[in-house]
Amino acid sequence: MSSLSPQPARTSADKPVLQLLIAAPRGFCAGVDRAIRIVELAIEKHGAPVYVRHEIVHNRFVVDSLRAKGAVFVEELDQVPDDAPVVFSAHGVPKSVPADASSRGLEYLDATCPLVSKVHRQAERLVAAGRHILFIGHAGHPEVIGTFGQVPAGAMTLVQTVEDVAGLAPADPANLAFLTQTTLSVDDTAEIVAAIQHRFPLVQSQRGEDICYATSNRQAAVKVIAAACDAVLVIGAPNSSNSVRLVEVAEREGTPARLIQRADDLDWAFLEGVATLGITAGASAPEVLVRELVDRLSTRFDVAEQEVEQTRETVAFKLPRGLEQTAAGTTDSGLVRAA
Ligand code: SF4
Repeated sequence: MSSLSPQPARTSADKPVLQLLIAAPRGFCAGVDRAIRIVELAIEKHGAPVYVRHEIVHNRFVVDSLRAKGAVFVEELDQVPDDAPVVFSAHGVPKSVPADASSRGLEYLDATCPLVSKVHRQAERLVAAGRHILFIGHAGHPEVIGTFGQVPAGAMTLVQTVEDVAGLAPADPANLAFLTQTTLSVDDTAEIVAAIQHRFPLVQSQRGEDICYATSNRQAAVKVIAAACDAVLVIGAPNSSNSVRLVEVAEREGTPARLIQRADDLDWAFLEGVATLGITAGASAPEVLVRELVDRLSTRFDVAEQEVEQTRETVAFKLPRGLEQTAAGTTDSGLVRAA
């Protein structure tokens, strides 16, 4: 763990000094890295265009970069021509989606993060064992839609808040289990889990919750810098669950925090009176956007950077079968390397 003692700040006659505490880990996780690589390799293997159902990850810069290489993003399978390959996003898809692709004879690649797939398999196992699942997550998020689509309708109930727990009326309270979305707030989820366990003491859980390593590591890292900063900027998309959670974690530490997609969104007024600024990035935001922000800050401030590392991540996921050989003959794109 790095010390939070300020580094010697350079002084400048015409620019105020701004101390930057940059959280580590931040930015790309192993699941996002793998999903982007799958799209890139699919383009290399099949040639453009390769269709991608839904944003491959929730980041406009990533989506635009892949579009420039030949990816075509669509919302549903019926927008994919019969002879084109299609990739499913990192958030996972309901079972009906690969089934529909197979019935049309489409070649598809599944970029679902292995940690999301793990929750899918747990859901199937619990339902097969006769349990009703309480699923803690956010309505409408693609991961939630994908996980609900692994089990028959009615086998799972969505729980979004502690208040929701009081309103639950399960048919068999002694035969419940819970699972969670992978990108939730660690602290909020702990409160919801406690409320469920208090109301249904016999509820079954596998490991407590299913929040992934990348989400919990990034939240722990931003918590530390937020406590030492006057303000925090989180680079990420508004529809990126883990990025929005990072803003909430910083604010819970009592530090004003803003989500920005990239340096162009920077509101200079937000930095008035800020001597120490924290910076982090959600799991779908590439490092190049962090550097872009630091460069932009440098135009008005004499910046002194300090990286504050909480955990070193070494997680990497295998590529799907069929792409490993393509990968062996290529090098990583700049987009993946930038992570
Ligand atoms: S945030 Fe977690 S679950 Fe989502 S892609 Fe990354 S590692 Fe997988």
